Amino acid sequence: SYAGIHTTGFRDFLLKPELLRAIADCGFEHPSEVQQSCIPQSILGNDVLCQAKSGLGKTAVFVLSTLQQLDPTPGEISTVVICHTRELAYQIKNEYTRFSKYMPEVKTEVFYGGVSIQKDIEVLKNKETCPHIVVGTPGRLNALVRDNLINLKHVKNFVIDECDNVLENINMRRDVQEIFRATPFQKQVMMFSATLSDEMKPICKKFMKKPLEIFVDDEKKLTLHGLQQYYIKLAEDKKNVKLAELLDSLEFNQVIIFVKSTKRATALNQLLVESNFPSIVVHSGIPQEERIQRYKLFKEYNKRICVSTDVFGRGIDIERINLAINYDMPSEADQYLHRVGRAGRFGTKGLAVSLISTEKDQEILDSIQSRFDVKIQEFPAEGVDPSTY
Ligand code: ADP
Ligand code: MG
Repeated sequence: SYAGIHTTGFRDFLLKPELLRAIADCGFEHPSEVQQSCIPQSILGNDVLCQAKSGLGKTAVFVLSTLQQLDPTPGEISTVVICHTRELAYQIKNEYTRFSKYMPEVKTEVFYGGVSIQKDIEVLKNKETCPHIVVGTPGRLNALVRDNLINLKHVKNFVIDECDNVLENINMRRDVQEIFRATPFQKQVMMFSATLSDEMKPICKKFMKKPLEIFVDDEKKLTLHGLQQYYIKLAEDKKNVKLAELLDSLEFNQVIIFVKSTKRATALNQLLVESNFPSIVVHSGIPQEERIQRYKLFKEYNKRICVSTDVFGRGIDIERINLAINYDMPSEADQYLHRVGRAGRFGTKGLAVSLISTEKDQEILDSIQSRFDVKIQEFPAEGVDPSTY
């Protein structure tokens, strides 16, 4: 740099050349703000507690910094990453695969419930197939720990993505504690989320030693600039007609439609399919293998419409989603922020429309607006200019 003018590039982080090549292949040109604030510390092995907006690259922070620190030893697990849903675990595993493209000796595996544990056991007990990096959901990982089927004694990095969600849930928190106890005292701990309440921070920090704390200092800054947000007030029994109208009139690449229950997800999807909309549905009642298949279909743009419960409400990164619809409002403001953050990834444009049919919905809408300092407008009668989302 000269004259004080300097744009940070991934090179400035002094990453391994194998990683820099993979980053270039991914098309990443400049590190995002969260990457600039975290990576210099995280590659040194410091603990990190990080809250930053949706879609701005938190995953690459821990994937790059753990790969940077990795010195793969056959049969030894070096990194454990925990997250709250199976599809997110699968997605993170693929990010490791992408970034370790030029590190052929590095092995990553994903472990989650709903599929046979036998395969996991086989992979783990064999020195040739045992991964260096393990991504998983709390229940399955703890099942492996409990029965001594996984050796975590060489773990150097312990990561929790969507940490507030993971630690808020009592069962998941208990599982995480057990998994944590199976790892060495001396290790790096990193946690990430777009939302971290003041109640959650101390709970996260119990797992850490003097973490670098990166908070978007003001919750009010958490909304995404490229995302236009609207509501529509209507009676519950008018939702289907309105939804069909929106899907016909809005020019979306891909849309995610959130509903509040498995039953409603199935019913709504059926209705859409019967009306010839290219729709799929995901929820926790679908067999796991099928859930991953559907995630792939949607991610690979084979389907343009996905009806989902909150299983896809956080963390899921699908590039072409530019429309998020709350067919049912979420039950809390934070969840709204995560859901609509599925549109407008990495600073791209997007549109979010929420259907408001009850007083409770209205209360949630009000609390979103005050908590995140955003004005959600009534959906304009003339529609929205497609060039703006
Ligand atoms: P977060 O976890 O913060 O919500 P993700 O890690 O899922 O966000 O990243 C969102 C998207 O942005 C992903 O598709 C990712 O590949 C992309 N991305 C991340 N960092 C960069 C970067 N520096 N340049 C370009 N794209 C990036
Ligand atoms: Mg994420």
